[in-house]
Amino acid sequence: MQLGQDTELNEVRRRVRDLAAQQAPPRNPRTGVRAPEADEVPALREWTRRLFEEQLLGVHWPVEYGGLTDPHPLFESAVTDELIRVGAAGPVGGGLLAAAAIIASGTAEQKDFFLPRIRSGEHIWCQLFSEPDAGSDLAGLRTRARRDGDDFVVDGQKVWTTNGQYADFGYLLARTDPDAPKHAGITAFALDMTTPGVSVRPLREITGTADFNEVFLDQVRIPATRVIGEVDQGWAVTTTSLALERSSAGSGASLFGALDRLGKLANEVVLDGGPAIERDDVRQAIGGFVADVHVNSLVSAFGDSRALHGEADTGDAPVSKILFSEINLALHEYGLELQGHDGVRVEGDAHVQDLGWWQDAFLYARAFTIAGGTNEVLRNVIAERALGLPR
Ligand SMILES: Cc1cc2nc3c(=O)[nH]c(=O)nc-3n(C[C@H](O)[C@H](O)[C@H](O)COP(=O)(O)OP(=O)(O)OC[C@H]3O[C@@H](n4cnc5c(N)ncnc54)[C@H](O)[C@@H]3O)c2cc1C
Repeated sequence: MQLGQDTELNEVRRRVRDLAAQQAPPRNPRTGVRAPEADEVPALREWTRRLFEEQLLGVHWPVEYGGLTDPHPLFESAVTDELIRVGAAGPVGGGLLAAAAIIASGTAEQKDFFLPRIRSGEHIWCQLFSEPDAGSDLAGLRTRARRDGDDFVVDGQKVWTTNGQYADFGYLLARTDPDAPKHAGITAFALDMTTPGVSVRPLREITGTADFNEVFLDQVRIPATRVIGEVDQGWAVTTTSLALERSSAGSGASLFGALDRLGKLANEVVLDGGPAIERDDVRQAIGGFVADVHVNSLVSAFGDSRALHGEADTGDAPVSKILFSEINLALHEYGLELQGHDGVRVEGDAHVQDLGWWQDAFLYARAFTIAGGTNEVLRNVIAERALGLPR
């Protein structure tokens, strides 16, 4: 997303660049949403606090909680995009998603307690939605919450929990009425992750890193005051944060950085006795990716522009997300292919290209086709909701 002619957004981008140049912790050099090391978390909490303090985040929140009176609708998209462009870290954890739910559906007490602590970086949040048998079909979740006096008692298992290993709070969905139709009978909670009965087990992925977790909930007591929205109405609460997750996935700023790396790689890799970039087929392929990345950027800007004019289409965010994730996948596959047999080298090998960045990015690239709704499911959304085709 870059609506380059918009002076207000250009000023936002300049402020991000200035702040990042002074004090941003570097973005994790790996692609995607990657877990920081434990010793990096304090600096990321402080950086999150600075971004809020400088009124670069939370600008769409109510003014009494630090929002601006009339922010540009694309203000925070521009901030996210510019942070990626300059290689600076973003805010740590899923606090913005949880805040969206609390602002839309939480009580005054919850807003007073949680929003300042998200702003200060004191509370890192994770999202406890997916389960081993409930991902795309999220409404099929089976984690149970039973009322017991002033508390709910929760039993179940969550999986793919990004940031779970260092989160202070979890935005949890659990079934409170097992007899209700699927989408009814689900309740949203704010779970203190230090509550007895919560166990977090990091999952080591094919990339060798542990970015996700399994979270086991065994007789976990949550005060009823921590229900977000109404009991049994959690599905409506989640639609707020799921929409935010999908719309922020597709801007594709990271693709411009990948293009730079691809150009550098094609100059360094030797094919037929010379730099790969001298071969026509390599130049054709890279030219194709440059075109794809620009198309992705324009499609994303087109969706933003329609939203700005009150003409958003249900297909816009899914189209952007599918386009971004598939270009990202193809580009990283090509980067590895270009390395020939050397493509099998891994991080730590003295002869690996770009310190192993390509291998990691290649292995992670499929995650973007899954996160925030799989591409297959999003194609269904486009077919059924945007085009009105039969189910
Ligand atoms: C990077 C990343 C971060 C994540 N972070 C979190 C997090 O913090 N918290 C959290 O709760 N979850 C998180 N997830 C989980 C994510 O929401 C799920 O992986 C996703 O919803 C898909 O669910 P699933 O993995 O159970 O796959 P499944 O739903 O089991 O799907 C398996 C396959 O079947 C296909 N499929 C399923 N239904 C249909 C259909 N109706 N039509 C056509 N094809 C279909 C899918 O496209 C997929 O290819 C994360 C995932 C990723 C990749």
